[in-house]
Formats: sequence, C-alpha cells, structure tokens
Amino acid sequence: RLVSLEGGEGAGKTTVLAALRAELEASGREVLVTREPGGTPLAEKIRGLLLHPGDEAVSAETELLLMFAARAQHVRATVLPALERGAWVLCDRFTDSSYAYQGGGRGLDQDFIAALERRVVGIRPGLTLLLDIDVAAGRARIQGRDRRPDRIESERDAFFERVRAAFLARAAAEPERFRVVDASRPVDDVVAVAVAALRDFTEA
Ligand code: C5P
Ligand code: MG
Repeated sequence: RLVSLEGGEGAGKTTVLAALRAELEASGREVLVTREPGGTPLAEKIRGLLLHPGDEAVSAETELLLMFAARAQHVRATVLPALERGAWVLCDRFTDSSYAYQGGGRGLDQDFIAALERRVVGIRPGLTLLLDIDVAAGRARIQGRDRRPDRIESERDAFFERVRAAFLARAAAEPERFRVVDASRPVDDVVAVAVAALRDFTEA
C-alpha cells in the first residue's frame, strides 16, 4: 500500500518519515521509502535540475512538466513494482505536492494538473499525512536551508501561504485519504500523532 507524507518547509517531514518506516518495519512489513521529486536515478537527476536550475528563470510550466516527468518514471520504475510485490511504499511527497506548489504556489490550472495526474500517474496513496504548519513557524525552523533563494522574503511567505492553503483544500476535499497533523507542536508529539494515524490505517 502507498502512503505519502506531505507538508510545507520546516514541518518535520524527514523526522516523521523515519518514525513511520520504523513503525512499519517493526510489524515485519517490507517497506520501501522513497521521495519526490526523485526516487529513481533519472528522477533524482531531474530533482537536481529542479533544485539547482542555474541562473535561468524556470517557468511554472517547465517546473510542472519536470515534476511529472520525474513522477512518471518514479511511479513506473519504483512505486508500482514495489506495490506489486506487496511492499508498503512510504513516499516523501507525491502528486499532492504538485497541486500545492505548482498549482497553489505557482498558480497553474488545477484541471491541467489533474489531467497529468490521470494520464501519467494513475494512482493515489491510500493514506496521506499532511504535516501542517504556519508559514512563519516553518520558516523559523528551516532558517538557513531555504532551497528557493529566488524569492524575496515577502514573496516567499505569500507563496508558501498559497501552498499551505492548497494542501489544506486537498485534505478537506478528500478527508478519507488525508490525516492533517498539526506540525507546530513539539516534534515528538508530531511523530506520535503521525504514527498513530499510520497504525489506524494499517489496521483498517
Ligand atoms: O525535501 P523537500 O521535500 O522539502 O524538498 C523538495 C523541494 O522541492 C522543496 O523545497 C519544495 O519547495 C520543492 N517542491 C516543489 N514542488 C513539488 C515538490 C517539491 O516546488 N511538487
Ligand atoms: Mg525534508
């Protein structure tokens, strides 16, 4: 089964992911942990292009299509084979991130993204944990490791407000799939809530 972890910058995804993996492994399940953009050698190269595009301004459409190029490869080469052999797949970001970042953040049309999702991805997670955090609180947590240095502070915050709103809208539209975790709480609490949500899902 496929479980995705979503959230803005500084929400604690990496820490939570490690705990989710441990939880699944403790119950004897085969777990594949993977990430987007990335998760195959080619998709990791595309990730490199996305995170370090050089001096050239990357258009929103270019970014979207590179994300989906990476995802197309990731789904076919990594995710589906693992699901087919019965493994659990834990994915650090999945298609919801495109709705949030390229849709909400960059303003691309949701229908365009939905069409790509249908044609190129074709699967959705059974459970999506959304680590939700206030933009200012997330910014305070990441401090130096801002990987979008192309934006000045106020633009950056407005961008992340739109990303957050888009994630929350997706969670509200699909409450059976999403669990929204308040990621402003101490990290141990965030981990405990996320692990409990995963446990509910594995037992369902
Ligand atoms: O490790 P993390 O998932 O936080 O980093 C991926 C980076 O790529 C983030 O900075 C996020 O802003 C960006 N991203 C994006 N659109 C996506 C997925 C990730 O802009 N669909
Ligand atoms: Mg991270």
